[in-house]
Amino acid sequence: MSTSKRVYMDYSAGRPLDPRAIEAMLPYMESRWGNPSSLHVFGQEARQALDEARAKVSQLINAEKKESIIFTSGATESNNLAIKGVAYRYRDRGNRILTSSVEHMSVVNSCKFMTTKGFETVFLPVNQYGFVNLESLEKELTDQTILVSIVYANGEIGTLEPIKEISQITHKKNAYLHVDAAAANGQVPIDVKSEGIDLLTLSSNDMYGPKGVGALYVKEGIRIEPLLHGGGQERGLRSGTENLPGIVGFGKAAEIAQNEMQTEGERLTRLRDKLIKGLLDPIPYSFLNGHSTKRLPGNVSVRYNFVEGESILLSLDMMGVAASSGSACTAKTLEPSHVLLAIGLKHEEAHGSLMFSLGKQNVEDEVDYVIGLMPNIIKRLREMSPLTPKELKK
Ligand code: PMP
Repeated sequence: MSTSKRVYMDYSAGRPLDPRAIEAMLPYMESRWGNPSSLHVFGQEARQALDEARAKVSQLINAEKKESIIFTSGATESNNLAIKGVAYRYRDRGNRILTSSVEHMSVVNSCKFMTTKGFETVFLPVNQYGFVNLESLEKELTDQTILVSIVYANGEIGTLEPIKEISQITHKKNAYLHVDAAAANGQVPIDVKSEGIDLLTLSSNDMYGPKGVGALYVKEGIRIEPLLHGGGQERGLRSGTENLPGIVGFGKAAEIAQNEMQTEGERLTRLRDKLIKGLLDPIPYSFLNGHSTKRLPGNVSVRYNFVEGESILLSLDMMGVAASSGSACTAKTLEPSHVLLAIGLKHEEAHGSLMFSLGKQNVEDEVDYVIGLMPNIIKRLREMSPLTPKELKK
């Protein structure tokens, strides 16, 4: 059976642009095509728009000044720039990088790459909820450690890390703290000053801005080695003509997020908790991945024993519901998610997991619709599964 109904609950993979961001971008695609580096009036107009967007993004995270924001092509580039940029610049201070076992692949693979350049990377363990083990952090932090890179909120299981405590520990050894806030920005308040963050990765689409734009916040006084060399844009840290329409849309999205995050966060938290309860309570052998409260407002990650997450997703898809098995970036691999394995799940438990990420356009009716579908989907799949115990098949 299929349906014409469409319910999108995969916001962490991609978000619609806020119409107000589109409106802000349009002039920079239609009539204001100047290059911010040009001296004439077209250039000045472009430069002003660039500065305004920079100010809006810096305000969202309470950065000390707008110049601390470097625009990039997205979170992957920002993570690469932060990790490689700090490592190359401060290699005379030490060669040790600490990160966690629940990071996005752009952090994992940047850290792994640096091991080919003489750096040592330690992947810190996490507990069953995905919280970084702070004793391990303290133990592994040596005088040789130059950088600690930890995710603000995990995009798969939604866990919000204790960034302030991580920062306090990190700074005892004078290492820098980089935080990947791609999944968290625009969803929860972030304050680089009060949380003690030295470098912060931001992503535009994760706050309903355009794709292909992001930023790296670099605290005043920290020097990083650029990855791209060229015309010296972005204070020489990211050469290349700026993607002005994208940056303007990002700035607008940041402004909107700052104004609306609290109300929208409360609304999503209510929908999230209703969905979690509705997906777990009526179905035996069902579990929540991650923490029940210290999680992103729109994140629901659950697992069902004896069935494959992929089969559940296909059944949901037939009923018009778009969810996901984990990170969209690694959805094509058959390997279970490294995040789910890191929180201690067995392979089959990780394979039985699926994730719903809620966003602006979701309403309560859609949550009720999904809750209504799940018992029959799981019952049918369990009846077909050789792993299901007999008493459950009755
Ligand atoms: N870090 C985290 C925590 C993410 O969730 C993502 C994916 N949105 C990224 C980095 C990479 O983002 P992008 O693919 O836009 O570069």
